[in-house]
Amino acid sequence: MEQLMYQSTRGDDQVVSASEAILRGIASDGGLYVPTVIPRLTTPLTALAHLDYQALALQIMSLYLTDYTEDELRNAIMQAYDHTFTTPAIAPLVPQGDVHFLELFHGPTLAFKDMALSILPHLLIVAAEKQGLTQEVVILTATSGDTGKAALEGFANVPGTKIIVFFPEHGVSPVQKRQMVTQAGENTHVIGIEGNFDDAQNGVKAMFTDESLRTSLKQAGYIFSSANSINIGRLVPQIVYYYYAYLQLVNQGVISAGQDVNFAVPTGNFGNILAAYYARCMGLPIGKLICASNTNKVLFDFLTTGIYDRKREFVVTMSPSMDILISSNLERLLYHASGQNAHWVRAQMQELTASGHYQIPQTVKTKLAPFVGGYASEEETALAINQLYQERGYLMDPHTAVAFVVLQKYRQASGDTTPTVVISTASASKFAKDVLSAIDPKYKDYDDFALLAKLGQLSSQPIPMAVQELEQRTILHKKVCQKDEMRLMVENILGL
Ligand SMILES: *Cc1c(COP(=O)(O)O)cnc(C)c1O
Repeated sequence: MEQLMYQSTRGDDQVVSASEAILRGIASDGGLYVPTVIPRLTTPLTALAHLDYQALALQIMSLYLTDYTEDELRNAIMQAYDHTFTTPAIAPLVPQGDVHFLELFHGPTLAFKDMALSILPHLLIVAAEKQGLTQEVVILTATSGDTGKAALEGFANVPGTKIIVFFPEHGVSPVQKRQMVTQAGENTHVIGIEGNFDDAQNGVKAMFTDESLRTSLKQAGYIFSSANSINIGRLVPQIVYYYYAYLQLVNQGVISAGQDVNFAVPTGNFGNILAAYYARCMGLPIGKLICASNTNKVLFDFLTTGIYDRKREFVVTMSPSMDILISSNLERLLYHASGQNAHWVRAQMQELTASGHYQIPQTVKTKLAPFVGGYASEEETALAINQLYQERGYLMDPHTAVAFVVLQKYRQASGDTTPTVVISTASASKFAKDVLSAIDPKYKDYDDFALLAKLGQLSSQPIPMAVQELEQRTILHKKVCQKDEMRLMVENILGL
């Protein structure tokens, strides 16, 4: 098979192999790696319908990671999607009335980030071997709550790696924070910053493109890589579950192969929904991609007006993993939608940095037609959690609930009756207080940990071990820094 190569969205002409793109994380011009062509999956859907998750993952990932051997990919897949997921289905599709929830939270850290971050370390180790790397890989990561823990879990004690995670000290849920600051592993470092996720992400991106830092890193025997969804090694594994959801609908007799399905995706950094877009480009019959935002509705505004404007108040919501004003992966969509016009993308990104906004021309906006933007207020989100619980006894976490609300609004406005999958991104137990308070305000006075047992009773589901034992764990990471001190922290950790 011919090799699929990757290039930067900002026009750095150099093309690189998949393993090199994964190893680098981000291009040196600050752009994101994208495949030079999006491959088509030509196997008929009916021939895929009975594959298990691992076999399907192999089919799809081998189209993108063409410089990995089949054995290398299979090994990575088998090590990632194993008993650390609490269901053999890995990503079960659960019908509730006229909505199908694709539950992506049965991995070790109870959020959808596990779908990609359980496999990324294995892909990265193979990449390092392929590239004959002698340096130690430093995974530098900004998190809005869930990536941090999933990446720590994936990279803890992996030989030849260190991982440094920055999270907004006051912008994650208590369970999310406790998961990170209790992380064991000689090679793990967790630091709170006095700032929000955008500050953390900007700080990390700046370090990736800093020439002088790169030089001193190299001298000290290190190389940076990223576990954020800017890494193409995060995006590719996420394509798999869109196919998997579709095929489950076929197997459950809800649709016949070839019929359109819509997906409603709770969106922050635009990584999850971009994977759905790739699946659509590969030939999966997807109608609309419903891009759901919380009060930080920069993407809704962008999709409706064509103007991206981050100059607005940053609001802390109960869906913290979507509290983002600069959605990095949108850059990849702009690249594809503009006919791979890297010069133009670079100019938009410069404009965004310089003035906080940019506007796309009608020709590009037309290409975004599969996307529908929508948003949910905090009140609407809480109401939806309550209503679905009262009607069906099913508990949604606040992120999933945002997508659920946006789907209802879209259905009402459009009359679209296409079967729809809501991407369920986190276990309600990660957000026990907000979920229970939505059902009964009396829970507002309790803390998340005190409420876990109650949540278990209500949902008649056992509380996952991964949160149950958290409160007893020793806090191992106590560092907090200002947002302009991130580089200093990294230099200290690495002894530069
Ligand atoms: C990360 C995350 C999201 C947002 O996903 P993006 O790929 O950043 O758009 C939504 N919900 C949860 C629970 C998350 O952890």
